[in-house]
Amino acid sequence: MLQEILALPVEDKIFYAVLVFSWTVYIWEAYLACRQREIYRSTTHVPTELGKIMDSETFEKSRLYQLDKSNFGFWSGLYSEAEGTLILLLGGIPFLWKVSGILTARFGFGPEYEISQSLVFLMLATLFSALTGLPWSLYNTFVIEEKHGFNQQILVTIYADYIAPLFDKFTPLPDGELKSEIESMAKSICFPLTKVYVVEGSKRSSHSNAYFYGFFKNKRIVLFDTLLEDYSPLNKPGEKEPGTGEENEAAGNESKSKPKNKKQGCSNPEVLAVLGHELGHWKLGHTVKNIVISQMNSFLCFFLFAVLIGRRELFMAFGFRDTQPTLIGLMIIFQFIFSPYNELLSFCLTVLSRRFEFQADAFARSMGRSSELYSALIKLNKDNLGFPVADWLFSMWHYSHPPLLERLRALTGPKQD
Ligand SMILES: [Zn+2]
Repeated sequence: MLQEILALPVEDKIFYAVLVFSWTVYIWEAYLACRQREIYRSTTHVPTELGKIMDSETFEKSRLYQLDKSNFGFWSGLYSEAEGTLILLLGGIPFLWKVSGILTARFGFGPEYEISQSLVFLMLATLFSALTGLPWSLYNTFVIEEKHGFNQQILVTIYADYIAPLFDKFTPLPDGELKSEIESMAKSICFPLTKVYVVEGSKRSSHSNAYFYGFFKNKRIVLFDTLLEDYSPLNKPGEKEPGTGEENEAAGNESKSKPKNKKQGCSNPEVLAVLGHELGHWKLGHTVKNIVISQMNSFLCFFLFAVLIGRRELFMAFGFRDTQPTLIGLMIIFQFIFSPYNELLSFCLTVLSRRFEFQADAFARSMGRSSELYSALIKLNKDNLGFPVADWLFSMWHYSHPPLLERLRALTGPKQD
């Protein structure tokens, strides 16, 4: 067996190595999903830490939804892995390339027009994957999400994450207790703060609560108004600032439709604890480290790409014996050849990002703000908790941001540094 493998031509070795690796990753992920599914099945009670913010009805609803999604994920994952394998085994890529060549030739572009052939190839490939993926996404939207009443949220999320930020309005945080406390906290860790802004983000799904930007000695802190108890428009429905006209009226109307009775946002000490976490990322150099890593990664990828693109055996492995189109080269190298590297890199980045989050929490804790951070985290996450329990291995592999429960436990656990 081993000798037979060793006797294969190098292009066959490449091809089978790609297939074996793809199935290895698939099986690993299926195993993790299976562990997580077991958690969905067996965890029927709200964890004690979350007892105050999540009732058992919401918990049960979310649990059943995730369970259905996970079962569906098993079949759709198996399908797409099998489809990908069949495409490779049956020579789907060179076939589609050939078809694109025939089509472009029809319009009078010969094989010398590699660009037009590449464009047609891209269009056909997109069409193919849309068609084969369509039944799955229809089933997901109209059966699973409909059954659990989740489907309208897709559009809302797209709006909140991608469209609403384009219209964000930044206003300087007015002078007052919060501003001076933020300034003195920045000073205490030598953070070169120049301005503090509040951004009107109340229409969004609130993934982000605060961030900073700017280079070197000129940094600004941006706080989402949903973070601030005293500032959140959700607490002052209908109130209009003088002189800004229609926009405010629209915002006022929108907040009227939301429940008014509960106070939203965090108290000043909690805001400072959240900022302590964010500034921890800066103080511990996380931002710089992330930039350096991503730059090095791009450099490495393009360097390797330049080395590999001329290798004939890579093209031969995927059925391109006479031609070496650049687009196909890109696809082969980035999608297939780099895939072990990409898996490894994404795992390392996930591990690193989680480490950074825990370190930033620990930083806020070292500033004596752990109990405020604890309550702030609970407040900020109570609306988008999803299903809060995760298998540790599943969580480690998939979640670049540790789930709320793990953060809460780390905050109250023994100090690690
Ligand atoms: Zn963070």
